Amino acid sequence: MTPPSATPLSRPTHGYAALERGGPVVPWAFQRRALRPHDVALKITYCGVCHTDLHSIGKWGQEFPLVPGHEIAGEVIEVGSAVSDFKPGDQALIGTIVDSCRECPPCKAGMESYCRAYPTTTYDGVDRVDGRRTRGGYSDHYVADHHFVYHLPSGLDAAAASPLLCAGITTYSPLKHWKAGPGATVGVVGVGGLGHIGIKLARAMGAHVVAFTTSAKKAEAATELGAHEVVLSSDAKQMAAQAFRFDLILDTVATTYAMDPMLKALTLNGTLCSLGIPDKFDLSPMMLAMGRRSVASSGTGGTVETKEMLEFCAKHQIVADIELITPSQLAAAFQRLAKGDVKYRFVLDLQN
Ligand SMILES: [Zn+2]
Ligand SMILES: [Zn+2]
Repeated sequence: MTPPSATPLSRPTHGYAALERGGPVVPWAFQRRALRPHDVALKITYCGVCHTDLHSIGKWGQEFPLVPGHEIAGEVIEVGSAVSDFKPGDQALIGTIVDSCRECPPCKAGMESYCRAYPTTTYDGVDRVDGRRTRGGYSDHYVADHHFVYHLPSGLDAAAASPLLCAGITTYSPLKHWKAGPGATVGVVGVGGLGHIGIKLARAMGAHVVAFTTSAKKAEAATELGAHEVVLSSDAKQMAAQAFRFDLILDTVATTYAMDPMLKALTLNGTLCSLGIPDKFDLSPMMLAMGRRSVASSGTGGTVETKEMLEFCAKHQIVADIELITPSQLAAAFQRLAKGDVKYRFVLDLQN
């Protein structure tokens, strides 16, 4: 349903959509809105392929056709009459959210990802002005309010930087909140899309970084990413040796697993932050009492912290390790992503 006050549609856009739940992603034409005064239009060059995209096409999607994609890089081609911080030709990025209520305390603090009225997601969300479904970055154009558009820092490759807008900020925010830095011992569970950036960021922040993986094959890769140590989490003996070591563990595992050995690795007042957010946790509350440990989670980051993260990544030359794919390779990429067979992020090349 589109209300009568809807912003007119004026921008023919070629995208890639799942036409129905669970369906393949296929070419699909639609129109983006005409610019409102605060809008910026991007010609999209790259878009990261996130696990969320898979889940949205599968169980989470609200409305189909669904155009995924929330790790967007592109070039500004047009700006609205009230926009002064972007101009045509600027390289820009858009992440997981494109609007929020702007009035609640988290919004006022620039933590729009925690908007109490729920932020508008970059795709499959509902636009707050005209009620239309948002459509994501698997397309050649995007139109968004400049408040949620970021400048690509000079010196960062646009394709490799695009995943920073989801995987990057999702790991940066908890690392900052729980004070990863010199003197802190930080664990990163899972060396995948989120984990590989988490390792790089924690290392650059000055923490002692330990990667946990179930795959012996990933041990060397984790070291190359910056981990000081690698622990094979399937090895009970190695796990027992980690007891009371960690101030923070970033856990990227998306499935339920027996967490007690991991919780035991937390030191006094340590926190395990679940970024994989499984359906439920399998843990013994006694494991929390012993050591006053916490299990927490974190939901990406707002505009203030995203800008800070981009500056940090530019300073430390941190981007994602990517495999560039064309739209015709999407189906195969989804299959590999579902199996965790990617080093470490697919990025869709939309230049042609
Ligand atoms: Zn994502
Ligand atoms: Zn809000």
